[in-house]
Amino acid sequence: MSTTGIIFDIERFAIHDGPGIRTTLFLKGCPLACWWCHNPEGIGGRPQLAFFAEKCIGCGRCLTACPEGVHERADDGTRVMHRERCRLCGRCAAECCSGALVVEGREITVEEAVTELGRDRPFYETSGGGVTLSGGEPLAQPDFTAAVLERCRAEGMHTCLDTSGQAPWADLERALRWTDLVLYDYKIADTERHRKYTGVTNDLIRENLVLLDARGTPIEVRMPVIPGVNDDAGNLDATAAFLSPLRSIRRVTLLGYHRFGESKYRRLGRTYRLEGTQPPSREHMEAIAARFRAAGLETVVR
Ligand code: SF4
Ligand code: SF4
Repeated sequence: MSTTGIIFDIERFAIHDGPGIRTTLFLKGCPLACWWCHNPEGIGGRPQLAFFAEKCIGCGRCLTACPEGVHERADDGTRVMHRERCRLCGRCAAECCSGALVVEGREITVEEAVTELGRDRPFYETSGGGVTLSGGEPLAQPDFTAAVLERCRAEGMHTCLDTSGQAPWADLERALRWTDLVLYDYKIADTERHRKYTGVTNDLIRENLVLLDARGTPIEVRMPVIPGVNDDAGNLDATAAFLSPLRSIRRVTLLGYHRFGESKYRRLGRTYRLEGTQPPSREHMEAIAARFRAAGLETVVR
């Protein structure tokens, strides 16, 4: 029987997920819950129902379609969703002609994933691109991730693994056999602060990064810059001090905080915890990059 995985998106012509033109497969499920996550639909491991309020025309078909009574209209006309009752049967989404209700996430076999990822091979070949497995956390589905990477590599495609590093070393090590470049997220140096903003300490992430470095697979560290969370001098210096001795790091990419994912939280009935936080200025990002470069780390701002 073919190994399957749960994905929530496939992005073609991606230019920020590794070198060249790439296709990125986004897997569902993540052991972290970062306050700034712009892909909250990737946190849960199973498909989920999203509601796009701005598309709803108020036809009421979902109210009668749902056997579990999830959708309700209160006496004052406002809409109420009892998400805890949802069994994900998809009937309401099938009845919703405006696209306001969508089941996000689907099961896919390794063969289907590799076929989809291989579609743009001519572009990979001319641009030095390839495929990237991202999420969510791809190592939350270790068998599927390893199998897709193995098949892509066997077909001559360049492979990137975009990971938080929060996974058993054995799963990461297995995936590395077929990985050309690791995009490794590093967020906060202090372990308790890391726990506060991501839900887990950074102990395993740091351990795995050291092991990964010793193994020699090229690494691009990606650090989101979140104002008021990790952009203070103490965190930046501690981060640079930890990263600079590691020899397999090819570069550090600083990713400025943005709010593009905020509306997704409403769609999924989740709370966005960085309400009001503003993106960092270009000058601030460049100043952080200069600080990292002074510590010997090749650093770019995106
Ligand atoms: S079926 Fe769709 S458009 Fe109609 S009320 Fe439900 S969510 Fe809104
Ligand atoms: S997916 Fe099924 S159970 Fe969930 S709200 Fe829609 S109709 Fe109801």
